[in-house]
Amino acid sequence: MTALNAPAPKYITGNTGEWEIVLGLEVHAQISSQSKLFSGSSTTFGADENTQVSFVDAAMPGMLPVVNKFCIEQAVKTGLALNAQINKYSVFDRKNYFYPDLPQGYQISQFSHPIVGEGIVTVDMPHNTVRHVGIERLHIEQDAGKSIHDAHPTMSLIDLNRSGTALMEIVTKPDMRASDEAVAFLKKLRTILRYIETCDGNMDQGSMRADVNVSVRKIGAELGTRCEIKNVNSMKFVQIAIEYEARRQIQILEDGGVIDQETRLFDPKTGETRTMRSKEDAHDYRYFPDPDLLPLQLTDDMIADIKSKLPELPDVKKQRFIDDYGLTAYDASVLTAEKELSIFFEQVAADHDAKLAANWIMGDFMAAINKNNLTLDNSPVTAKQLSSLVACISDGTISSKIAKNVFEIMWNDGGMAHDIVEKHNLKQVTDMGAIEQAIDDVIASSPENVAAYRDGKTKLIGWFVGQVMKNTGGKANPDAVNEILKQKLEG
Ligand code: ADP
Ligand code: MG
Repeated sequence: MTALNAPAPKYITGNTGEWEIVLGLEVHAQISSQSKLFSGSSTTFGADENTQVSFVDAAMPGMLPVVNKFCIEQAVKTGLALNAQINKYSVFDRKNYFYPDLPQGYQISQFSHPIVGEGIVTVDMPHNTVRHVGIERLHIEQDAGKSIHDAHPTMSLIDLNRSGTALMEIVTKPDMRASDEAVAFLKKLRTILRYIETCDGNMDQGSMRADVNVSVRKIGAELGTRCEIKNVNSMKFVQIAIEYEARRQIQILEDGGVIDQETRLFDPKTGETRTMRSKEDAHDYRYFPDPDLLPLQLTDDMIADIKSKLPELPDVKKQRFIDDYGLTAYDASVLTAEKELSIFFEQVAADHDAKLAANWIMGDFMAAINKNNLTLDNSPVTAKQLSSLVACISDGTISSKIAKNVFEIMWNDGGMAHDIVEKHNLKQVTDMGAIEQAIDDVIASSPENVAAYRDGKTKLIGWFVGQVMKNTGGKANPDAVNEILKQKLEG
C-alpha cells in the first residue's frame, strides 16, 4: 500500500499560540451473540422489559455464571482482526460498585489480564493518507441493566434485559490528534467489526458507544491532563464533544488554570460537556479475580482455527479492488466500507467495466437508495439488474445519458436493461447514415447558425449537438455526432 502517513492535523489556535489535541478512545462494543456472556438468556434487542432475564442476570443468590464459549471466540476473532496479541491466559475480575441497574453489586470484567493485548488499526484519512492508531487492549465484560426514569411519575424503573450481555471494551492508545481522526477511527473499527460479525455496530441501539479521552498540549510538550467523556453514542456527538472539550480546556489553561482529571457527560442538546465526577471521588473498584470463574486458557489450535475462518478483511479487500479492478483508493474505500456493498459491487462489476460499475453504484444508485431511505437488502434494483445496465452502456447499446432513463424505468417498473431498451425503443443510433442524415437536416434548417459558426462562434457546436440529439430522441451516439458535426461545419 502506497498511502502516506496523514500529516499532523491543524492545531487549534488560542491566545497564547497553537495547541494540539490528544485523544484516546474506550469503545464498548456489544458482542453479536444470541445469548448472554454467563447465561442462556436471549439478547434480542427491543423485547418487552425484563423478559430476557435469567436468575444469573438478576443476580439471585447462589447462581453461578457459566462462560459462553461463543463470546470468547468472538473476542479472539476481533483481536485477530485488529492485528492484536491474543493472550492465551486471561482472568475475569469483579469490578465492585453499587448501582440500581447492577443487581450483583459488581460487574464481571477483565482487569490485569485481558484476553487481547496490543494491536493496530489503519485508518483511512483524506487525500489517500492513513493514520495508524494503536490498540492498548481488548477485554470482555458484562453490560449492566437500564434505569428508566420517564415511565412512572414518582418512581424509577429497572429493565434488566441488557444485564449480563457480553461487551468488548476496546481501548486505544492516545494516538489521535483531531476530532475527525477519532470519527474516522470509529468508522473503521465499526467496518471491521461488521465484516467479521462480532458486533453489529449499531450506535442507535447502543451496541457501540465510546468514552472519549481528551487532553490538550502545546506542540511538543508532555501529555496534558485528560478528561473522559462517557458514553457518547453517535459519530456526530463524538465530533462535537471533542471540539467543545478541547476548547474548554484551552480556555482554562490560557487563563492560568489547571485541568482537573474528571469524568464528564456530553449533553446532546447543548453540545457541551459537564462534570459527572472528579478524580478525587473516583471509584475504588476493588478488583479481584472472580472466584466463580476459572481463568480462561486458550489453546493454539483454537486460535489458529478462528484465524483460518476470518473473512477477507476490509484493508485487504480495498487493496484487491485497487489492484484487480483499477479503482482509485477513494472509490475502493467507499465500496469496501460495508461488506454488503463490496459484494454488491463485485456482482455488478462481474465481467464488465469495473470503473463504470463503481460510478453507477456510487452515483445514481446510491443516490436513489438514500433518497428513498432504502438499503441494499430492500433495493428495487438488484445487482443483476444494475449489471445489465452497465453492460448496455459499455457495449454501446445506450449512451450514459439514456442509461439514466433506463435506470429510472428499472427502478420504478423493474426489468433487465436490454428488455427495457427494447421495449422503449431506446437503442443508441450508431448507424452513421442515420446520424449523418439528422445532422444534414439540422445544418440545412439553420443557415444563420452555420454562418455564425464558420465566422468563429465555435461555441455554437453545443447548440448543434443539442438539436441533433433532440431530433434523434437522445439516441444518437454523442461522440459520433460531435465528430461528424465538426467535419461538416468546418469542411
Ligand atoms: P483509565 O484506566 O483510568 O481509564 P487508561 O490509562 O487506561 O486510564 O486510559 C484510558 C484511555 O485514555 C486510553 O484510551 C488512553 O489512550 C487515553 N489517554 C491516556 N492518557 C491520555 C491523555 N493524556 N490524553 C488523552 N487521552 C489519554
Ligand atoms: Mg477509563
